[in-house]
Amino acid sequence: MEREVEWVEREDTGWQCKLCPQHCVWNDRSPLGLCRVRGLVEGEPGLPGYGRCVSLSIDPIEKKPLYHFLPGSQILSTGPAGCNLRCDFCQNWTISQTDDTPTRYVSPEDLADLAFREGSRGVAFTYTEPTIWFEYIADVAPLVRERGGSVVMVSNGYVNPRPLERYLEITDAWNVDLKAWTERFYKERCSGYRDPVFDNIARIGESDCHLELTFLVIPGENDDPEEWKSTASWLAENAGPKTVLHISRYFPSYRLQRPSTPVEKLRQAKEVFSEVLEYVYLGNVHFEQADTLCSSCGQVLVNRSGYRVRVSGVSDEGRCTSCGEPVPLVTDVGKG
Ligand code: SF4
Repeated sequence: MEREVEWVEREDTGWQCKLCPQHCVWNDRSPLGLCRVRGLVEGEPGLPGYGRCVSLSIDPIEKKPLYHFLPGSQILSTGPAGCNLRCDFCQNWTISQTDDTPTRYVSPEDLADLAFREGSRGVAFTYTEPTIWFEYIADVAPLVRERGGSVVMVSNGYVNPRPLERYLEITDAWNVDLKAWTERFYKERCSGYRDPVFDNIARIGESDCHLELTFLVIPGENDDPEEWKSTASWLAENAGPKTVLHISRYFPSYRLQRPSTPVEKLRQAKEVFSEVLEYVYLGNVHFEQADTLCSSCGQVLVNRSGYRVRVSGVSDEGRCTSCGEPVPLVTDVGKG
């Protein structure tokens, strides 16, 4: 039986998709959504990308990156062959922005079974943009949770408010890209709008889901320290000062071929964000401090050496064993 398509409405010009702010209209002239996984199939709304996985592998959860959610665990990772943004600097463009990405169909039941192989603790929907895969994730997530696992989303945060509410009911943890402070950047570099992403970050931050953020610093594009300060203040106010931020290094990719971000620039960003946020990490950089330290007394709570992870300074009650400060770390399987 074909899976029913959600979030579409009949309009004069065709079928309009209401899943994300692109609001694509599917019709004879333009049968496929911008994301390539939703659109018309034989003239009717369909899900050509349903269950078609670009890759399936079991990764350290730190690679998502999530540092404060089940640290040291492994998680089955997969994603759809498409995306609803068009970022010039996409680091995964070969699977998110092309028409001929090889995929393999995996039924929801099979994916939920795979999610517990080789010590995996659930499923991470990642690599490309998972929110465009609404119906598939809505089918997989309850099966994973029934089996005691967690559902993780690694997303650009570009989804409409109503579907986001549904996602928040069926998922456990998110890493959302915060691409830049400015509307200009989202429009010119990503073909999207800034505000839906910021609104969603605030909403996920206040929900029961665990939230971490990734900020890719690109030289000459989003590396103004004044913008960083504005971003940090906004995050502290809207998602809280304990929100985990991963500052990541850009490498030339896809349509943007600027030189890689100097490590010094990343350290500067870490310094600026750390003035306001308590847990800031550098990503895509070797030999950088990646331990989690107690924000109150500085004791090492989680020791990380590459993907070798040891939770050492956290009590059974979720407090720092040295000073007793509560630690914003999910160390057991969290389910709503
Ligand atoms: S989810 Fe896909 S089809 Fe729907 S509006 Fe967004 S890009 Fe278009």
